[in-house]
Amino acid sequence: MLVLMNVNATEEQTQAVCKRVEELGYRTHPLPGATRVAIGITGNKGAVEADALSQLPGVAEVIAVTKPYKLVSRDMKCEDTVVRFKGSDATVGGSELALMAGPCSVESRDQLFRAAEAVAKAGARFLRGGAFKPRTSPYAFQGMGEPGLQLMAAAREAFGLLVVTEAVDHESLALVDHYADMIQIGARNMQNFALLKLAGRASKPVLLKRGLAATLDELLMAAEYIMSEGNYNVVLCERGIRTFADHARNTLDVSIIPAAKKLTHLPIIVDPSHAAGRRDTVAPLARAAIAVGADGVIVEVHCDAAHALSDGAQSLYPDQFAAMVGDLRRIAEVVGRALPQPQSKPHPQPEPSAPVVAR
Ligand code: PEP
Ligand code: MN
Repeated sequence: MLVLMNVNATEEQTQAVCKRVEELGYRTHPLPGATRVAIGITGNKGAVEADALSQLPGVAEVIAVTKPYKLVSRDMKCEDTVVRFKGSDATVGGSELALMAGPCSVESRDQLFRAAEAVAKAGARFLRGGAFKPRTSPYAFQGMGEPGLQLMAAAREAFGLLVVTEAVDHESLALVDHYADMIQIGARNMQNFALLKLAGRASKPVLLKRGLAATLDELLMAAEYIMSEGNYNVVLCERGIRTFADHARNTLDVSIIPAAKKLTHLPIIVDPSHAAGRRDTVAPLARAAIAVGADGVIVEVHCDAAHALSDGAQSLYPDQFAAMVGDLRRIAEVVGRALPQPQSKPHPQPEPSAPVVAR
């Protein structure tokens, strides 16, 4: 259910409606729009007492939302959501495309800082890098854990990048919420509903990756879990799905971008690295993503990809990343968007640290 306030409704009137809805035992989600406020209502089992609400001062209309997802739906909020970050002017979903890049895993200070410097130089405003890795094999490198997050936070200070990193469970989510600027929920956890609810109570925006075999509806319902808990800063991410095709690690489903844009106001970016599985096809897929209307890309970059502890085969070298960004700039212009320009950053003092050894 959605309560649409009048264009000239006062703040007090909006608050009075929220109070009434909460008295009825439901949850309110104020959704400020360009011209008027809408109030999303969730938690109702059947029809909300629409008549009682429609007669409150300042209310223009009470609308039933018939889709299973409410808060993520364009029915609730027709304008595109622009996700913003504290202390930064970087956005996801605005006219500037989001450029997120960095290694699959944080391995050492030296490895992370080299990658961070390279991606910042090419224009990235977000540094990716996993400290908690969901690996297919329990014997594969599982990530550095909290020390990895501390390195990400140090790289943020050194290069002025926002950091995005994955949380895999309750414990790591609390740590990621503390150290990072954006919480990544990985493909394998897209339907970990307990984790989604927790991310919904976290303070940072969430990057929600599509599950390996998830439909668009399932992805939107996963985002709804996060939003229903009060975190409205959610960015969706297409990262390739499992199909019969065996020429790539996964099949990049570019068709989900325009389909998602129709149904939801949330931004959606593309991860061409996990779709491609090999570095020579990352750039073409990234170009397709921007052409089809994605709000950005997240790309794996490693200065010594041959010795990476995870996903080396699909990691770009810095010069390949910079060349790809050059191509994306030209395509962005065609679709009426722009990529961020490189910012001038302080140069950090190198401080060597021992690399983590994979077992
Ligand atoms: C990753 O970003 O390194 C990762 C594990 O991604 P996904 O969850 O899409 O497999
Ligand atoms: Mn990876």
